[in-house]
Amino acid sequence: MRLSDADFQSVVAEARARHNMSDIAGRHTALKRRGPREMVGLCPFHEERTPSFEVNDDKGTYHCHGCGAGGDAITFLIQLEGLSFMKAVETLSGSAFPVVSVTERAKRKRASEQEIADRIALARSIWAQTRPIADTPAEVYLHSRKINIVPPASVRFVLTPRWRNPETGEVGKNVPALACALQNRTGSIVGVQCVFLDDGGRKKYERQRPDGSAAKAKLSFGIIAGSALRLGPVTNQVVITEGPEDGLTLLQQLGDRSIWVSCGTAMMSRMDLPADVSEVILAGDNNDGGRKAVDEAEAAYLSQGLAVSSIYPDQSFKDWNDELRGIHA
Ligand SMILES: [Zn+2]
Repeated sequence: MRLSDADFQSVVAEARARHNMSDIAGRHTALKRRGPREMVGLCPFHEERTPSFEVNDDKGTYHCHGCGAGGDAITFLIQLEGLSFMKAVETLSGSAFPVVSVTERAKRKRASEQEIADRIALARSIWAQTRPIADTPAEVYLHSRKINIVPPASVRFVLTPRWRNPETGEVGKNVPALACALQNRTGSIVGVQCVFLDDGGRKKYERQRPDGSAAKAKLSFGIIAGSALRLGPVTNQVVITEGPEDGLTLLQQLGDRSIWVSCGTAMMSRMDLPADVSEVILAGDNNDGGRKAVDEAEAAYLSQGLAVSSIYPDQSFKDWNDELRGIHA
């Protein structure tokens, strides 16, 4: 019997939620509890001696900070045990693993809804602190990138902490940032990406973490997957690119197009577009990661029935802003 799409989706969702992710991953690595929700162990996807593999039973997900492997019960069985998608769903629908009770599953659903609501509330509280970029380090930063247009209202300046500890209420000191509003399909602000700045905006934030790795200049708050930094209105055609600097560069050069930014290479294929958008132009970066992101996004938007094309900067430049500034790769 062939299931309808909706029935198929509910079979998949049911298969995903039936078991503890830790029971599934636990067959391949020993996990230790680290927080109320997280467990951690040596990554089964790469060789390591200190644990960077995290499992979250509330969300039913895993993520490795070392090699970037991540997903849910289905992707785990596909990637690590070599099952097909259908075989993974079938395995999870059976009783190969202990089954989680209905009460516990309802509790997890509430906890994850609460977490999403908290993340959106934090993003909105950051956005409420923003102001226009005129005479701020954000303006200095954009000028240093040869972006001289006045950005749309979705790009502003903020002074905000880089970290917060929800348990103790402690927060880091305020750091200046270029703030980009991330809107969901209906246009509500559900996230903010901050490009943190140093030296009055003359460069991006640069610090070393205690372990010697570089702290990220760009941090996103709220919900990133599915949302977009909109540098133009909802129109039947939008140009999609992966970072705010590239987006503003394209806006400066192609002023009549509506440019939307995914704020993350991996998020380029995930944008949840309003029904009025029927065509996307993918403006990619000129490197392996950028081309892969465009290929994935092309497949994703084609499968949603959109018309798709792609453009790249001239071969000798890594991205659109480097091209604007004449910086060769
Ligand atoms: Zn790993």
